[in-house]
Amino acid sequence: MKKLEEYVRSIPDFPEPGIIFRDVTSILQDADGLKLAIDSLQGLLEGLDFDVVVGTESRGFIFGVPVAYNLHKPFVPVRKKGKLPCETVEASYELEYGSAVIEMHRDSIKPGDRVVLVDDLIATGGTIEACARMVEGLGGEVVRMIFVMELAGLNGRDRLKKYDVASVIRYE
Ligand code: 5GP
Repeated sequence: MKKLEEYVRSIPDFPEPGIIFRDVTSILQDADGLKLAIDSLQGLLEGLDFDVVVGTESRGFIFGVPVAYNLHKPFVPVRKKGKLPCETVEASYELEYGSAVIEMHRDSIKPGDRVVLVDDLIATGGTIEACARMVEGLGGEVVRMIFVMELAGLNGRDRLKKYDVASVIRYE
């Protein structure tokens, strides 16, 4: 059986020179790869007591929904600003050039909810930290952050020291 890392396509110099982009479409377009990715992510939650899965636009949706569905938990999308129709909370985070704003519905997390955050990849940790701030602002508790891939060299775990962080594939 192939390992999950063997399904990941690495693209040099995308989206900019010097960056190696880890492509998840090559996982998704293979039925065995897709199953292995979801099963492996789900494995990172074994034994964990939690109430809701929160996934970030857009690859966090792809991986978060099947995990939530399989474990019979609700799924909450975090979206780019301006996409959600009801009352929202927002958080901003720094990008290499400028900043980005993300939102979630105010009624999507109840005080005391135990929340799992999902994304395809953690690099600097800025995106997921902004998600955590929103969840906590609504009274939720982030009990784990899970990722298909982790770019360990960018030290995302350092800024997320207070969280329980788990990934399937680690790139040094
Ligand atoms: P961070 O906020 O941790 O620096 O960056 C993580 C975010 O950028 C994630 O939402 C992720 O989808 C995206 N991202 C950054 N680099 C890559 C990459 O090489 N591959 C993929 N699939 N996503 C990336």
